[in-house]
Amino acid sequence: MPILSPPPEPFSVTVPVLIVGGGACGLTAALAARGAGAEVLILEKDEIPSGTTSMSQGTMCAAGTLAQMEAGIEDSPEQFFEDVMAKVQGKVDPEFVRVITREAAPTIDWLSAYHGIPFAVDKAWSGLGHSVQRLHAPPEKTGEDLMGRLLQAVERAGADLLTDATVVDLYADESGRVFGVRVERPDGSQEDVGCDALILATCGFANNPDMIAEFIPDMAGAHVFTWENSQGNGIQWGMELGAAVADMTSFQGYGALAYPQEMLFNYNYVIDGGVLINKRGERFSDEMADVSGQGVKVMRQADQIAYMIYDETLHNRHKHLKETRQALEVGAVKTGASASELASSLGLPKDALQQTLTDLSYAKAGKRDDAWGRDFSGTHDLTPPYYGIRVTGAIYHTQGGLDVDENARVKRSSGGLLPNLFAGGGAARGMSGPTCSGYIPAAGICMAMTLGRLAGQAAADLPRPKYHA
Ligand SMILES: Cc1cc2nc3c(=O)[nH]c(=O)nc-3n(C[C@H](O)[C@H](O)[C@H](O)COP(=O)(O)OP(=O)(O)OC[C@H]3O[C@@H](n4cnc5c(N)ncnc54)[C@H](O)[C@@H]3O)c2cc1C
Repeated sequence: MPILSPPPEPFSVTVPVLIVGGGACGLTAALAARGAGAEVLILEKDEIPSGTTSMSQGTMCAAGTLAQMEAGIEDSPEQFFEDVMAKVQGKVDPEFVRVITREAAPTIDWLSAYHGIPFAVDKAWSGLGHSVQRLHAPPEKTGEDLMGRLLQAVERAGADLLTDATVVDLYADESGRVFGVRVERPDGSQEDVGCDALILATCGFANNPDMIAEFIPDMAGAHVFTWENSQGNGIQWGMELGAAVADMTSFQGYGALAYPQEMLFNYNYVIDGGVLINKRGERFSDEMADVSGQGVKVMRQADQIAYMIYDETLHNRHKHLKETRQALEVGAVKTGASASELASSLGLPKDALQQTLTDLSYAKAGKRDDAWGRDFSGTHDLTPPYYGIRVTGAIYHTQGGLDVDENARVKRSSGGLLPNLFAGGGAARGMSGPTCSGYIPAAGICMAMTLGRLAGQAAADLPRPKYHA
C-alpha cells in the first residue's frame, strides 16, 4: 500500500473530509461530518456498499440510551465500563474504554433522533459479559437493514458517496500529513482526490492471511468468515505513516457457523439453554463463558466441528430470526422425536447424546454441578422433540488496529498525533484487549459507529491547512 509524495500541482478535486470505506463506520462518520457542516466524500470499493456490517446482526452495545430508559432498563456508562474491564481482565487501555463506553449511548440516541434509525433494545441477548440488556438494533435485527438505513440517512444528509472506487495509494509528506488519495476504478483507470482530513474506515485484516500470520500466528490458516475487503488497507497505510497500533493479536471468533452451509446461526438457542457438543456427543465447554473464545474451542474439536443442540420450545421462540429461517430453508437444522432419533439425523453416537442430555437435565435441576461450570439458571430442561445443527468455528473480524485518541485521531508510534488522520471501526484498535476472549457482544458495531461519529465531528472541525487559505 504505497505512500506517494504530494503532487506538485493541486488536486483537481479536494474535499474537506474524505472517508475511505462505506460500512457502519464510514457512513456514521459522514453523517457526523455533515452535521458539523463539512462537505464529505465517501470512497467505497464495492458497487453496493455492504461491508462486514451487512454480514452482522446489526446490533450495537451502548449504556444509558433513551431506548433502554423506555424499556425500563437501568444502565450507565460506568456499569458498561466495569463490564468491559471485567471481560478483558483489565488488559486494555482504560482511558480508551472510558471514551467508548461514554460515547456509545449518545451515538445511538443521535442516530435515532436525527437520522431516523429506530434502535430498540434487543432483549433476547443478555449475559456473555453484559450485566444488563444493552444490545441495540433496528427492527429487523440484521446488518443489511442497518446498512440500508445508514445509506438512506447519508443521502438525506447530502454526503457524497462514490462506489466502485478502490483507494490504492495515499499522498502524504514526511510529517505524516495526508494530502489526498489515488482511486482506482473497475476499468483500471485512476484518479486523484485531495482532502483536508482523511478518515480510514476500511475495517480490519481478517481476510488478509499474511497479516493474520504476522500478528495472530496462532490463527494462521484458521477458518475465516468475513467481508472479502477486510484486508487491512487502512491499518497498513497508517503504519507506513508512523501510526501506533494496539492489540493486534485480538479478534472476534464465533462458534456457531452452520457447516458446510457457511451461514451464521443464532446463538440465542445457547443463551436460552441449548448446548454445544462435539462429534463424540459430548459437551466440551461452558458455552456462555465467552462467545468469542467459543469459536476457538469449536475449532479445537475433531474436524473443527460441533453441534448445537436445543429443543422445540427454543425453536419456536427463535424460528422467526432471519438466520434461522435461512438455515431451515436449506435443511441445515435437523430434528428428532427422541435423543436417539436426533443422533441418527446428525450422525452422532446415540448413547453419548442421551447421556449428555441426561447430565444436562440433572445440572439444570440443580441435582449436580455442571461439569463445565455453566450457570443454567433461568433456562428450562430440554425436552423432546430435539433440534440440532452442525456448526464450525471461525474468525469474524479482527479487533486490533490503529491507536486513536478520544476524537478518533490516529496516534504516532513516536508520541503525539498524526496531523489529519482519523480511524474507526475495524481499522482502529478495539476495546477487547489482546486476545479473542475479551470481545463483549456487539462491540464491533459499537466501535464502528461510536468512533465513526467522533471521527466525523473532529475531522470536520479540524482547522483547514494554510495552503487552502
Ligand atoms: C458474521 C458476522 C457477524 C457479526 N455480527 C456483529 C453484530 O451483530 N454486532 C457487532 O457489533 N458486530 C458484529 N460483527 C462485527 C461487525 O460487523 C464489524 O465490527 C463492523 O461491521 C465493522 O464496521 P466497519 O465500518 O469498520 O467495516 P465494514 O463494514 O467492513 O466497512 C468497511 C468498508 O471499507 C471498504 N474498503 C476496504 N478497503 C477499501 C479500499 N482500499 N478502498 C475503498 N473501500 C475500501 C469495504 O469494501 C467495506 O465496505 C459481525 C461480524 C461478522 C463477520
